[in-house]
Amino acid sequence: MPLKPTRKTRMPQGAPAERARTFDEVNQGYAEPHARFEASRCLQCQEAACEAGCPVRVPIKAFIKLVADGRFREAFACITSTNPLPAICGRVCPQESQCEKLCHMATRFQPVAIGHLERFVADWARTHRGDDAPAAGMAAPGMLAQSRWQPSPPPAAAPQGPSVAIVGSGPSGLTAAGVLAPLGYRVTIFEALHEPGGVLRYGIPEFRLPKAILDDEIARLTAQGVEIVCDVVIGRTLTLDQLTGEMGFQAVFIGTGAGLPRFLGIPGENLNGVYSANEFLTRINLMKAYRFPEYHTPLKVGARVAVVGAGNTAMDAARSARRMGAEEVRVVYRRSEEEMSARKEEYEHAQEEGIIFQWLMNPVRVVGNEAGWVTGLECQPQRLGPPDESGRARPVPTNDPPVVIPMDTVVVAIGTRPNRLLTRDGGLTTTSWGGLVVNEASGETSRPGVYAGGDAVTGAATVILAAGAGQRAAAAIHARFSRERHA
Ligand code: FAD
Ligand code: SF4
Repeated sequence: MPLKPTRKTRMPQGAPAERARTFDEVNQGYAEPHARFEASRCLQCQEAACEAGCPVRVPIKAFIKLVADGRFREAFACITSTNPLPAICGRVCPQESQCEKLCHMATRFQPVAIGHLERFVADWARTHRGDDAPAAGMAAPGMLAQSRWQPSPPPAAAPQGPSVAIVGSGPSGLTAAGVLAPLGYRVTIFEALHEPGGVLRYGIPEFRLPKAILDDEIARLTAQGVEIVCDVVIGRTLTLDQLTGEMGFQAVFIGTGAGLPRFLGIPGENLNGVYSANEFLTRINLMKAYRFPEYHTPLKVGARVAVVGAGNTAMDAARSARRMGAEEVRVVYRRSEEEMSARKEEYEHAQEEGIIFQWLMNPVRVVGNEAGWVTGLECQPQRLGPPDESGRARPVPTNDPPVVIPMDTVVVAIGTRPNRLLTRDGGLTTTSWGGLVVNEASGETSRPGVYAGGDAVTGAATVILAAGAGQRAAAAIHARFSRERHA
């Protein structure tokens, strides 16, 4: 290997003690010299292994070369040829288990900071939009499988094509819309909540993903003619039959996510002060409890908070609890650090912000007082046994007696599954846990003309996988209409 700096260029970030008191973004982004320096660490390998680790096959080697050369606008076009949401993915993708894991530099040193560079390019493009900017549309169908960059086609003037309804405005729905709108489709997104964005809006906090970034992505869509109708629950306000019948939509994409929280099913879970992470984060992010009293959303957060679980949602809940004023926040997890699914950076940031990690503890009861409020969390100590069906070491109770950890608030972050509201009446085939069954290549459900993707199909997964599914389904919808036009 040629001589290259062995460590990643450090991402500038707020000091832990100060940032843990505000919802300002923690990572502050590379400046131009940081980005070019980091990009120069790339070996420009003949076989760019990193690209195989990216679910939407961003042409990583090409875009990093463009960054190293200071050709940022071209780097943006290169990335958006396959990744519709680079400013978001650069911030939230689990790069350490995807592209960066396969980077050749990672065999001996730290990998190239591919995520930080992606974020830099997307932020640069947003702040340098000029008249000479090429159309930076979302990735077009057919480009997904290409490993080499080509520019996206310019958006069509006014949509005249077939009408497509998209149910849900998370990354899968936004991406499907972003592919179809520039191709002339008349796209309407129906969203149950009062603001679009899905988990990007209600789940991931401002300090990780500023909502201005999301608003910008959404503004790009509406500028392309996409209509977004909020406060409409498909399956309740309107049915799937109405969409495809009297409303005349010629295709439907379902990207309703997996927003139904799982609970522990232990005594005391109904006490006051116990939240699902979904409710806790929705109140803070979507309903802006962190800006109380400017926003009238109450959220009672006690001095001592336990967050049960150790995924991204648990890290977001724990770090948000800290910012909402909790003095002591503990993540309680029945397995060990080794098995946790949170992004590495989120875990490190949580540690820096003083979050306490209590490994190998399985909650068995929420303890309360006579007034019905939480006072503690009773946990059974665990040890690790042989792997379970998930491939991770199974937690097994030890002979030690249960311990009660004093607590005022408990947030349950042990996963979610799809809501059956839409699927139960829609004539759609689902799995035992409520996931939509689709054709893997096209995303088409058991109902012809109705497509689906994202967490509604896979169960809780990642932003980029949801975006990739939206892209694939949009490509299949376009292929179908193109075939019909030429038949
Ligand atoms: P969602 O983002 O869930 O959006 C679905 C939308 O559909 C919602 O807005 C919902 O209101 C709407 N909807 C549901 N039912 C209906 C209906 N019947 N009618 C109309 N609208 C409906 N992934 C990462 O890659 N990195 C991370 O760091 C990360 N952190 C996360 C943190 C949290 C707190 C959570 C909860 C998830 C996180 N994820 C992360 C996972 C990622 O956000 C999801 O995998 C992704 O958002 C799924 O996208 P989606 O389009 O399938 O659905
Ligand atoms: Fe560059 Fe690493 Fe990809 Fe090689 S594997 S092209 S060094 S980012």
